[in-house]
Amino acid sequence: MHHVTLAEKNQLYPVGKIVCLGRNYLDHIRELGNKIPDRAVIFCKPSSSLLGNGGTVIIPAYSNDCHHELELALLIGVKGKQIKEEEALNHVAGYGVALDLTLRDLQAELKGKGLPWELAKGFDTSCPLSDFVPAEKVSDPNNLQLTLKVNGEVRQQGNTNMMMRSVEQIVSEISDFYTLEPGDILLTGTPAGVSRMTSGDHLVGAIEQVGTLEVTVA
Ligand code: MG
Repeated sequence: MHHVTLAEKNQLYPVGKIVCLGRNYLDHIRELGNKIPDRAVIFCKPSSSLLGNGGTVIIPAYSNDCHHELELALLIGVKGKQIKEEEALNHVAGYGVALDLTLRDLQAELKGKGLPWELAKGFDTSCPLSDFVPAEKVSDPNNLQLTLKVNGEVRQQGNTNMMMRSVEQIVSEISDFYTLEPGDILLTGTPAGVSRMTSGDHLVGAIEQVGTLEVTVA
């Protein structure tokens, strides 16, 4: 069983499901040449994909093109189904820094065949994740600067105010499909600048008011 930590409160949450939103930043949709979705693009990662801060990413041998995607993560603290947008933030216990690592070559192949993306998104170590800061420490989750550096060079930069769906809309929309339970983790999509990682790369993701996440590629 994997656990995540809600810092300062010294609370441990057993990890439930990890639900990820795709195509939530226009600049990222454009860089991959994707269409703007009319319905949220949602997929799940298994809890076995989690990697703690300071960990080592293992890129599977069947891929030559593993991309980083820096994302704001939400930790669900209160159970809910069909949550209204105006109630959504009451269900969020904390915020964290996550990477949605993606085997872009395999994903392109699966997309081309109309198949689900899970094999490209759910491999072991594909979800590096920081500890969570309590929600009350974050003034506005829809206005946070995100920066990812690889070997000291800025690769991704954005702000959650560029998301097409707000944090409240994400919680509400995902809870239309899945009952959200304490310990569930939601990933909110990535801004532009995704790129290939290579062996030995050192990644540092930072989100304003939330924290930092560091990993190294094996
Ligand atoms: Mg993503």
